[in-house]
Amino acid sequence: MNIINPATEEIIKTVQEDSPAALHEKYTVLRQAQKAWGLKKLSERLVVVQRFYELLGEQIEGLAAVLTAEVGKPLAQSRNEINGARARILWMMGHAERYLSEELITDTEELQEKISYEPLGVICNISAWNYPYLVGVNVFVPALMAGNAVMYKPSEYASLTGLEIEQLWKKAGLPSGVFELALGAKETGEALLELDFDGYFFTGSYRTGKHIYEKVAHKMVPCQLELGGKDPLYVADDVLDVAGVAAGTADGAFYNNGQSCCAVERIYVHESVYEAYEAAFLKEVQSWKIGLPTEEGVYIGALTRKEQLDVLEDQVQDALSKGATLLYGGKRSAGKGYYFEPTVLVNVTNEMKVMREESFGPIIGIMKVKDDEEALIFMKDTAYGLTAAVYSHDVDRAQRILSDIDAGSGYWNCCDRVSAGLPWSGRKHSGFGATLSHQGFRAFVKPKAWHLRK
Ligand code: NAD
Repeated sequence: MNIINPATEEIIKTVQEDSPAALHEKYTVLRQAQKAWGLKKLSERLVVVQRFYELLGEQIEGLAAVLTAEVGKPLAQSRNEINGARARILWMMGHAERYLSEELITDTEELQEKISYEPLGVICNISAWNYPYLVGVNVFVPALMAGNAVMYKPSEYASLTGLEIEQLWKKAGLPSGVFELALGAKETGEALLELDFDGYFFTGSYRTGKHIYEKVAHKMVPCQLELGGKDPLYVADDVLDVAGVAAGTADGAFYNNGQSCCAVERIYVHESVYEAYEAAFLKEVQSWKIGLPTEEGVYIGALTRKEQLDVLEDQVQDALSKGATLLYGGKRSAGKGYYFEPTVLVNVTNEMKVMREESFGPIIGIMKVKDDEEALIFMKDTAYGLTAAVYSHDVDRAQRILSDIDAGSGYWNCCDRVSAGLPWSGRKHSGFGATLSHQGFRAFVKPKAWHLRK
């Protein structure tokens, strides 16, 4: 499998995909190794995680360079991602004891009742490329802490990062066979669905997630899906700093080239602040440097996947044919690399693809609305349910709107944000189950109820 640098279109490496036979062998190794790992004390497992955390910090420059080379994100954003992953691990290390230890529920002279948390066993983690460290860490760190063995399948677009992660675990002292890598694309993923894992944890598109869920249903094991979104954002008429809100929300839409599951994908703006917002938004977008992701100061690098250029072009054409106005950008850039100009569409309607289908790229539709009610109708008009945001001076007003939206996260005066202490979860086509928070530990264990009559 050739690994291509999306910014230069050069082949940077060739790696060997895992055959179904190789995967079966790794699966057998994981089964064996899990037994001893699961029996270790939590404190012993945490020593290994601590070392993994330290290594991420010590090797950040090299790791960021590899990530940027294969996914095309600006180097500064690769460093941010690794630092973000470290912060999450730190939170998990500080909370593992609390959420994985036995809980005493009742303790009388006659009866003791307690809950213990047993590892699921050997789990399979099929992952995405847009934030391989962040979405990877969400799954494999608490899974390992809880005593599971992990088959980690990085996206084919983040294979080199997958190999780095495997090396880091080895260096951190993780016993051999507790963490195995499955390299390859769709066929590798399919082969993993044939093996008898004790849980499937998937991050990726709705389409693949639905397929995986259907395919593993008969196994009767947990299956958790973190999928895409079409996240709406509303700017109310009482915001105090329209220009500041415009700049912040533009970042929420375009950071990582818009390739974030929780990127702002649709913007609704109250008519009384619309003009000021649009002007400030445009000014912000025009200020960004586009270029090689390794260059200092670049904010818009290359897209990771070539095919996404067609998706974005199609969304622009669809919007224009239905009456939208192109305020900025609108096409792929000439020359080498998978570059697409940051694109702003206005006079859009919710019938256009750019307001309905996940764009996963540097493109945004902005719509004028007359009041909160109209904004809410549009915000709710989606098959997805990952996040929703409201910018307003009034927290009650924002919470009223957000409580009425069927999404896993509600943002007031912020967006495109994930917190280690809060559950990260989607609804509807954005998936189900949660990572992070206490739920993100409990996802990887089976509770056992102990009824001890004295
Ligand atoms: P994708 O669905 O194309 O691929 C995800 C993974 O599934 C890859 O490892 C891929 O090789 C594998 N795969 C593909 N076909 C398969 C099959 N038939 N059987 C088994 N495995 C298969 O998604 P992607 O392009 O890697 O990621 C982008 C998507 O992920 C976006 O929709 C984004 O919103 C979503 N995402 C969601 C979250 C979240 O936390 N909710 C986080 C990051 C990304």
